[in-house]
Amino acid sequence: MIRSQSLCFRYGDGPTLNFPDLDLPQGTVLLLSGPSGCGKSTWLALAAALMAPSSGQLWVAREPLHAMSRVAADAWRARAIGFLPQKLHLSAAMTVRQNMAMAQWASGMPQDPQRIDAALQTLGVAELAHRLPSQLSGGQAQRVALARAVLLNPLVILADEPTASLDDEAAADAVGLLLATARAQRASLVIATHDARVARLIPPEIDGQNGFQPLQLKRHQL
Ligand code: ADP
Ligand code: MG
Repeated sequence: MIRSQSLCFRYGDGPTLNFPDLDLPQGTVLLLSGPSGCGKSTWLALAAALMAPSSGQLWVAREPLHAMSRVAADAWRARAIGFLPQKLHLSAAMTVRQNMAMAQWASGMPQDPQRIDAALQTLGVAELAHRLPSQLSGGQAQRVALARAVLLNPLVILADEPTASLDDEAAADAVGLLLATARAQRASLVIATHDARVARLIPPEIDGQNGFQPLQLKRHQL
């Protein structure tokens, strides 16, 4: 579940970003749309407890992130959040499999090669396990990053511009995989994007209650 009240964030002495109040049950797909610079990536960073709100409250998966210590936030994030960042941050010096193992290590979980294999298999990239990131297409790299994000069965999957730099076919594939993965893991899914294709790719049958919640983030004017 995701709930927020009067959530605000301010970078230094920049303008205050005000976010709309939310109250979403577990299993929701939330689309954060709006123009570049309106605060989509900032909202994701708050929901991943990478930063604390400047004011207001934000609960994600029942945790009050506005009242969490940085130490608790790091531990909670590893357990609860699957983050698909805009820049994928795959290590160029490591194979796909080694990138996955590093993520497992960083989360504090014991090494579990079978789990890595299963995640790569589910995302259809098992045969790429020994490649370097430079040997992957954009869509393949996106699949690997998603496999890494969901390695620990997160409660919430956060995806930042998951279709950026993908052609129409790879974009449809990426959105379909995000939806299927969230559904299979009973996770909530938040997609932040300024790509108008994404709203069209989310099928109407998940509209409505417990389903798709389009959210425009508005740019705050001082
Ligand atoms: P979006 O993802 O919707 O494009 P962002 O959340 O990245 O928007 O940015 C929201 C606003 O905050 C923009 O005006 C941006 O310039 C500003 N901003 C983002 N990151 C930083 C930062 N690290 N320091 C200062 N300002 C930032
Ligand atoms: Mg952004």
